[in-house]
Amino acid sequence: MKARALLVPGLACLVLLGATCWHRQRPAVLAAVRAPEGLGQRAYGHVAALVGFGARHTGSTGWSQALGYISKTLLEMGLSPKLDRWTDPREGIYFTNVTVTLPGSHPDKIVIGCHHDTKCTTGHTDPAHNFHFVGANDSGSGVGLLLELARVLKEQTTRRATVELVFFDGEESLSFKWDLSRALFGSRRYVRQYQQSLLDDPQGPKIRAFMLLDMVGGKDLHLDDDLNSDTELKKIVMRAAQATGHQQWFFANRSKVTDDHLPFLEARIPSIDLIDLETNNHWHKPTDTLDNIAAQSLHLVGEVVLTALPGFEERLFPAERKH
Ligand SMILES: [Zn+2]
Repeated sequence: MKARALLVPGLACLVLLGATCWHRQRPAVLAAVRAPEGLGQRAYGHVAALVGFGARHTGSTGWSQALGYISKTLLEMGLSPKLDRWTDPREGIYFTNVTVTLPGSHPDKIVIGCHHDTKCTTGHTDPAHNFHFVGANDSGSGVGLLLELARVLKEQTTRRATVELVFFDGEESLSFKWDLSRALFGSRRYVRQYQQSLLDDPQGPKIRAFMLLDMVGGKDLHLDDDLNSDTELKKIVMRAAQATGHQQWFFANRSKVTDDHLPFLEARIPSIDLIDLETNNHWHKPTDTLDNIAAQSLHLVGEVVLTALPGFEERLFPAERKH
């Protein structure tokens, strides 16, 4: 991440249009889904491994090591990660997205994502923009939590939704100051590929919702009420936070965030960004280090995500036909 308070023109209208497509329903009662013991600690361990690789901006040695770590960890879980590597013609550098698909009984998907690149803090003309940066929270935390969610979601046998986990490359703006035309490379590519797949096969699987995890491990956690995120999904996540008793960490601060959820919103896919930006004192600073994140934060966000998913399914997936 990302720019604060940057609105894509027309976005609010798209969100509104998307929202009116839904039938009015009574809110689902969400039962708390407890994360397995040690989930937060294991996620923290992944972040420690990533931080050990150092800076992970696209093309760096640490970035390459992080990609290897993500793939290896998923393979060790018995999953089949897919790597999508491409060159951006204007930037002339390679990007790599990693996806893993966890089938449900319905082919349509809920996509959960994070970015794996870190902010590039080297080679800028302004010396103030060059410093040692390891991105423990931004976005080691998202990667660590998503890896552990993969382990849990793989074992769920009654889920309707197919869940796709995506580790996006190139979220961060290549220029130090936010420049939308030089950011969100991985998510834009993923959504373009999805749109092409629907042109090729209009009956193919649809993405019904997108949830983004970005800076979800802060010791002093405050996940923002992002005004770009879908209102209905935010309500479901808040109910999940209440069901698990974690509501105090959710949606106290308003923000309007430009992040990997924007390409999904522009494609009219209901999307939510769980992000701690507005009061994050370590954002894009040398202090975004392991000692400023906490396993407990990763654990509680994991519980809320696991509790919210059945709410997303209830809201967005057609009821099973009874014969
Ligand atoms: Zn960032």
